[in-house]
Amino acid sequence: MSEINLVCNNKKCRIILNTYAWVTSCSHVFCDNHGSEIFNREKKCPCCNEVLNRHLDIVQTNLNPDESYKSMILCGLRPEIVMDISLRAVTFWNYQMAQEKIIQASNTKHLQEKLEQIKINTKVMERQFQKYILIEMKKVESALKDAEIQRRKTQVIEEKLMEKNRILHQVQSKCESLKLQLISTTVKSTKTEQTSKPLKSHTDFVFAPNLN
Ligand SMILES: [Zn+2]
Ligand SMILES: [Zn+2]
Repeated sequence: MSEINLVCNNKKCRIILNTYAWVTSCSHVFCDNHGSEIFNREKKCPCCNEVLNRHLDIVQTNLNPDESYKSMILCGLRPEIVMDISLRAVTFWNYQMAQEKIIQASNTKHLQEKLEQIKINTKVMERQFQKYILIEMKKVESALKDAEIQRRKTQVIEEKLMEKNRILHQVQSKCESLKLQLISTTVKSTKTEQTSKPLKSHTDFVFAPNLN
């Protein structure tokens, strides 16, 4: 069996034909489904609009004929007729192959155009992405700078606070020291006062005159 196969000429179908096919005198071929659907409706080729009214303009063909068919179908015909039939059959095949080549070339071109468009779109997206990354990097850079400035400010405030705490501790210590000094002085002076002044005798007490 050949590697190359006919395909249904219905653009939306293009199924590989390897069992039965509907062949037309305008050199088109259709799968069993599309052939029966189209030609039961109208005798007109959907590919080239050729009117197919004549006898044998449309033929349903078995693409894998058995051995007895192959042995008998051309038997009895003169060699030039056999050659003529074969030539027409090969011409049909060549036309189909040429059409297939055109379709494949068109598909390839279409795919290449699509690929080119995808490449262009990818480049555009890449540029947009790079732009976006650059903007985001600048934002991050700016945020890091702000954070560093804030960190330094906080450090300065902390240092000032520490200095103020240190001064406060000094003042508190001084206060404590002065308080202790004051207490000590007061105690001393009280003691001195108590020792320098003797206890009064009972004669020293004077009763206050009664003013009533
Ligand atoms: Zn089909
Ligand atoms: Zn046709």
